Amino acid sequence: MTSRTDNDVDVEVLVIGAGVVGIYALYRAIEAGFTAQTLEAGDGIGGVWYWNRYPAARFDSESYTYGYIFSKELFDEWKWDEEFATQPEIERYLNHVVDRFALRQHIRTGQRVVSAVWNEDDSLWQVTTEAGETIRARWVISATGGLSVPHYPEIDGIDDFQGEGHHTGAWPHEQLDFTGKRVAIIGNGPSGAQILPAIVDIVEQVDLYQRTPTWTTPLNNAPMSDEKRAWLSENFEMVVRTLTKSPTGFMHPPAGKFSTEDSAEERQAFYEEIWKAPGFGKLTSNYYDMTTNREVNLEFCDFLARKVRSIVKDPVTAERLIPKDHLFGAKRPPFIADYYESFNKPNASLVALRETPIVRVDATGIETTEGHRDYDIIVYATGFDFGTGALTRMGITGREGLDLSTDWEDGPFDFAGFAAHRLPNFFFPGGPHGAGGGNYPRYSQDQIDWIADALIHAREHGFDRFEPTAEQEEGWMTMVETLAPQSIFSAEHSHYYGANVQGKPKKFLLNPGGRAKLHEILDEMTSTTDFNGALVASHERVAV
Ligand code: NAP
Repeated sequence: MTSRTDNDVDVEVLVIGAGVVGIYALYRAIEAGFTAQTLEAGDGIGGVWYWNRYPAARFDSESYTYGYIFSKELFDEWKWDEEFATQPEIERYLNHVVDRFALRQHIRTGQRVVSAVWNEDDSLWQVTTEAGETIRARWVISATGGLSVPHYPEIDGIDDFQGEGHHTGAWPHEQLDFTGKRVAIIGNGPSGAQILPAIVDIVEQVDLYQRTPTWTTPLNNAPMSDEKRAWLSENFEMVVRTLTKSPTGFMHPPAGKFSTEDSAEERQAFYEEIWKAPGFGKLTSNYYDMTTNREVNLEFCDFLARKVRSIVKDPVTAERLIPKDHLFGAKRPPFIADYYESFNKPNASLVALRETPIVRVDATGIETTEGHRDYDIIVYATGFDFGTGALTRMGITGREGLDLSTDWEDGPFDFAGFAAHRLPNFFFPGGPHGAGGGNYPRYSQDQIDWIADALIHAREHGFDRFEPTAEQEEGWMTMVETLAPQSIFSAEHSHYYGANVQGKPKKFLLNPGGRAKLHEILDEMTSTTDFNGALVASHERVAV
């Protein structure tokens, strides 16, 4: 395919972000013959896998299902060490991909975008970096991620702490030495829960500050064997088919049955098997009605609660670790090895913040209503401004002066989780309403593939504008609002509702229709040459 330049612009496709999604977007743009460039705020490649370098950060989707599946050569040549790879290997992998497909020359790191303004007369975006450079682009793909803006808790005195205080999502590059240190971990989501077992054996003391207990289950990781690698290579086509078709983007075998098909005894035996299933298999290989039948879910929760009581020796701690306010899967569950076991170590303790809330952080540690504890390190594993955080901070101004940060004050209003009316030629794959609750890169790949195909189609048919119509956007948002109550991620106090960030409107931020709905709506759009009015030839341009 030949490359086409455009007189008005510096680059045809500008990608913002060099994480898993941005790298793929750049690859597709270059492969399609567009001039393309990526601006990345970090000083390296990897997005969340660049920033989240805390101890034991790792996938909880199987490595080969999270990595790219667009190239069999790449799939075969990267030999994952483990079923669930750790952050250093993931960062190496993403750097390898960038070099292997000659993408690095198109990526500029250390370039934070601070504004993106639509120029109606020229039909292009003017994107400005923190350093003051402006780049004009015909199309912008903002692959800025749903979990890229760290959320620090609203606790008095955080800045007064004289020790090391770090958020998991902005972890320092110089590895912190935890040996012999007194450590506080605030937050017990997947990040906080991953760190605890990783450091408990080397620290003097570690206290986990928990506000809401989670249904944490073992990851059940394993080294990748040569046999498994050979099997994956031989079955590559099937793997791609499964990952592309599966509603969740995983390869876990389905249970193939409803709970009613088993006796009470058989169900307990089945739950034991599920406890040993890898990662998200506890959800995706569970009974079909686990997430739709409250009684079945309660029975499984009861099984999990007994597991916690059997592992954690102190009965008071065990009770505090058992969720009382949500069913299994209603909040995104962490999958972590040795989490509950860590609380049996003499140097680990649980601080139940519902009983003894934090009063303040001060120079030497943390004061709760129960007293003061001194620390050398405080880890803020307190999550992210999910879904909208990056986009509403990027100074995005669309058509007719649309200011995205104010337009989304009551929650994001978008189309297909990657575009919006009055934001012509601007795509944000992996944004709000993007993921459906499953293997994130597989959802994002669906979006990127569609966007790349749409740009190729636009070029071939002489269109230079893509903008979902108000009706298309409303149709999508009606779907989101109608189906949100049926989503398994129904706990309204979770970050999937933005509830972890004070003042953020409580709006469902995933795609509750999943991949099926996404494809149905996009296929309907592409059934016409002008995408039912979303594609427009607005501007006479000379291609050279
Ligand atoms: P998270 O799931 O949002 O958890 C944040 C934790 O911080 C929660 O326990 C929350 O308590 C607590 N918290 C927030 N504000 C607090 C406050 N003011 N005082 C006390 N506690 C507070 O964040 P995360 O663990 O970083 O995970 C975010 C997402 O990243 C996950 O959903 C997942 O998609 C991804 N992730 C994946 C992996 C992996 O295994 N691959 C690892 C890490 C993260 P409440 O529950 O009470 O709000």
